[in-house]
Amino acid sequence: MAFDIDMIKRVYANFPSRIEAARKLVGKPLTLSEKILYAHLWQGDASETYTRGESYVDFAPDRVAMQDATAQMALLQFMQAGRAKVAVPSTAHCDHLIQAKVGAEEDLKRANTESKEVFDFLGSVSNKYGIGFWKPGAGIIHQVVLENYAFPGGMMIGTDSHTVNAGGLGMLAIGVGGADACDVMAGLPWELKFPKLIGVKLTGKLNGWTAPKDVILKVAGILTVKGGTGCIVEYFGEGATSMSCTGKGTICNMGAEIGATTSTFGYDESMERYLRATNRDDVADAANAIKAHLTADAEVYAEPEKYFDQVIEINLSELEPHLNGPFTPDLATPISQMKQEAEKNGWPMKVEWGLIGSCTNSSYEDLSRAASIAKQAVDKGLSTKADFGINPGSEQVRFTADRDGYLKTFEDLNATVFTNACGPCIGMWDRVGADKQEKNTIVHSFNRNFAKRADGNPNTFAFVASPEMVAAIAISGRLDFNPLTDTLTNANGEQVKLDPPTGDELPQKGFAVDDPGYQAPAEDGSNVEVIVSPTSHRLQLLEPFAAWEGTDLLGLKLLIKAKGKCTTDHISMAGPWLKFRGHLDNISNNMLIGAVNFFNEKTDDVKNQLTGEYGPVPATQRAYKAAGIGSIVVGDENYGEGSSREHAAMEPRHLGVRAVLVKSFARIHETNLKKQGMLGLTFANKEDYNKILEDDTIDILGLTSFAPNTPLTIVLHHKDGSKDEILVNHSYNAQQIEWFKAGGALNIIRKNAAK
Ligand code: SF4
Repeated sequence: MAFDIDMIKRVYANFPSRIEAARKLVGKPLTLSEKILYAHLWQGDASETYTRGESYVDFAPDRVAMQDATAQMALLQFMQAGRAKVAVPSTAHCDHLIQAKVGAEEDLKRANTESKEVFDFLGSVSNKYGIGFWKPGAGIIHQVVLENYAFPGGMMIGTDSHTVNAGGLGMLAIGVGGADACDVMAGLPWELKFPKLIGVKLTGKLNGWTAPKDVILKVAGILTVKGGTGCIVEYFGEGATSMSCTGKGTICNMGAEIGATTSTFGYDESMERYLRATNRDDVADAANAIKAHLTADAEVYAEPEKYFDQVIEINLSELEPHLNGPFTPDLATPISQMKQEAEKNGWPMKVEWGLIGSCTNSSYEDLSRAASIAKQAVDKGLSTKADFGINPGSEQVRFTADRDGYLKTFEDLNATVFTNACGPCIGMWDRVGADKQEKNTIVHSFNRNFAKRADGNPNTFAFVASPEMVAAIAISGRLDFNPLTDTLTNANGEQVKLDPPTGDELPQKGFAVDDPGYQAPAEDGSNVEVIVSPTSHRLQLLEPFAAWEGTDLLGLKLLIKAKGKCTTDHISMAGPWLKFRGHLDNISNNMLIGAVNFFNEKTDDVKNQLTGEYGPVPATQRAYKAAGIGSIVVGDENYGEGSSREHAAMEPRHLGVRAVLVKSFARIHETNLKKQGMLGLTFANKEDYNKILEDDTIDILGLTSFAPNTPLTIVLHHKDGSKDEILVNHSYNAQQIEWFKAGGALNIIRKNAAK
């Protein structure tokens, strides 16, 4: 599992000269984000300046990480790329396919049986192509990456939107689709639109009940789920340096919830402490040697307005604990206002479950602070009113927390310790009673709280909070419990108050682990066989998508006009569908089943224009495909927000959708559509969304002269014989247009590898 210190030293060796070249070219002091970007240019030294929010730039990431749900498709694609070994250090992590039900041991055993063929596939394909493999139970990808691979000033990509977590250790870590990961593993450059920069100045110091989680809950309230789109968020100030490294990871992690490309912090002593505590003295020493390059130039933080596109200031000394939700992570409510907000909005006050874990908040520090609340509860004669569950972030965290007595403390409070895995955070939760679909409230320390996310019940009101607040609220059983002011009645009928949490940033006796769950790849994998059964329901080898036919697209049918929020969860649902992530045809049966049809406000119920009947979206699309008719999906704002899963782009492509036309896209999803050879288009005039009618037949014109910055035309043929012509924009550059023409980026990679 050894991190690649030689690779890190090579990266650092280039830093001084590359940053100097960039500084000269840009002609002003540089932010940390710019330093890392310019130090990772594919071409080497900068030779031109880039316009934030506009220029597409090729980068050379240092690492790739993949989780089991997305790794399947990423590696199936990599197998099609014609290469013998990955070109950059890469890892695969088994964390998404383990359902939380009764507790760690039994749940893990069941997952190892149920998903055996997937884990075996990932283990063997990793072994063959030089990829580090983290077995089921080893931990959640982002916690494992932070503990083992993240390094200050590095750039990595990962097939998961919370890859951004590694910003806690001063990286630029970015969530991508499997197709991007495939490119980088194949030794190709990785393209990104040069991001805009948001600076967040943290003054003061966290205290009492307030935790790093509350910083990002506050930021999410300010910026909303779209506010970070196309931006890197760079945190700085005394409040930043006074926070732990894993706390910084929490803040960066939830940058995904504001749509940010990534978030980061400058290298500081908390990072050095974390590197040394996780057995990486040589990385800390190497980072110390170029310390000045691993944070912004001094002028930047002195006058941030001059250097960032937007600046936010938060005084940590005054920050209150927050609860964000329900149904969206940007609905931020300070705990002191929760009672009135919950009453006003009719949110169920009784809390049924408190869940601690997820990549966001499952560090040693998180568990120790939550355990301090649990211990007080036991000592003061309290019990939990809500059910209580814990998912440690990694085997190293679990083993150490167990050694230090924290897990026992949770169990004393009747908590269930689940596997070191995603579990309820990704809907892998066999929650008793969830199928009754009753209105209820849960509180968790995760990052996402979209409807149905944790338990599949659309009536579960999920609120996001820090682990210590989750513990306190689970004990009280009430959403409006404010531990800063309220008391609880204990078993003796006495009123008791919980003291603010305490905990250890790092274990006093050091981290320990027996078996971390790592499998190193074979030195020479040429004889390793990767077996995929042709009859498997879980895995399916890919066939290349067809190239563009060279003509305008005429006679397309409207498949669905999606209304309102349409996240990647709506397009390609998680939960029970996770098991088909490696089988494109089977998982396509969930395509857009969560999207709301504008015309009848129902989900998974659209008109089949060939029969006039209403039916499920996938079945309707399969009918169009069988008839040789293409279709188009229409969407609202920020279409495809949420995760990086390329299935949300591959499924429509596989089933014959030709274009997705929306008011605006989430970045990763738009790129994923392009990679798969789909047309991702936006209304030039957003009001034209209203011109799309249920029985429309649609032409897309201008493709034979498809060029960057040139709009296309769409003709809407309405049922009554009338028609509308509208202009649609796109953000394809010349290379992306080639992807479209070839039928997908992979078709080009394979062709080039064969040369
Ligand atoms: Fe796993 Fe949840 Fe983190 Fe995604 S957000 S990696 S599902 S723990």
